[in-house]
Amino acid sequence: MRLVRPSTREELLAEIDAEAAATAPMTGRPALAARVRAALERVPREAFVPGAWRDMAWENRPLPIGQGQTISQPYIVAIMTELLDLGAGDRTLEIGTGCGYQTAVLAELCAQVYTVERIPELMQLAQETLAGLGYANIEYLAGDGHLAWPDHAPYDAIIVTAAAARLPAALVAQLRPGGRMVVPVSGGFGWLGQSLLRVTKDDEGAVASQKVLDVAFVPLVRDAPQE
Ligand code: SAH
Repeated sequence: MRLVRPSTREELLAEIDAEAAATAPMTGRPALAARVRAALERVPREAFVPGAWRDMAWENRPLPIGQGQTISQPYIVAIMTELLDLGAGDRTLEIGTGCGYQTAVLAELCAQVYTVERIPELMQLAQETLAGLGYANIEYLAGDGHLAWPDHAPYDAIIVTAAAARLPAALVAQLRPGGRMVVPVSGGFGWLGQSLLRVTKDDEGAVASQKVLDVAFVPLVRDAPQE
């Protein structure tokens, strides 16, 4: 039995706007770019959420997607996407496909998305959902995102949707000069003390990183040997 009416798409967007305004002192982004907001409005979040949770698809909260993983909170998807400053011609690498919701938002905003997921069952399901919705500018790799995806490097933008123990070297190496990356990094205490970092590489290749927000992501699991 539901005691409250589920949120609508418009209510969620309004909540994201309010949270973006409230967190502006940390993020430097008081409002989402119009095209980022439009992408969030277009992508049907309910298509990515398991049936049991579908009527909560437009709530501003993470939800279980199976395999012990979660679809991220919509505000977090929004602000991470915003911080990538995607251009229409950009090529973006995503680590942690999960259900593919963030992947769809990226695919709306840039030319090509390369997405890496370590759990083959999730990758398969995401691929089916995204193909069913008609997204044709996404390539998929099953594997450990710590290694990034050298075949298509360098990337204009990189997004990691699981918390790394530290900034993965291969990801930094595969970001082009002028590129932007957002990545949650854990302080070594699991869910506690994670920071969302925005990492940039300037035209000379110098890397700078700025803490944006406290966050709580599932861990970026290491399968590949330490590089
Ligand atoms: N953006 C996704 C987030 C899913 S949660 C969504 O909104 O659905 C994080 C995802 O990262 C999980 O699917 C998990 O399996 C994946 N993951 C964890 N460690 C990984 C790694 N080393 N390489 C690739 N994917 C990883």
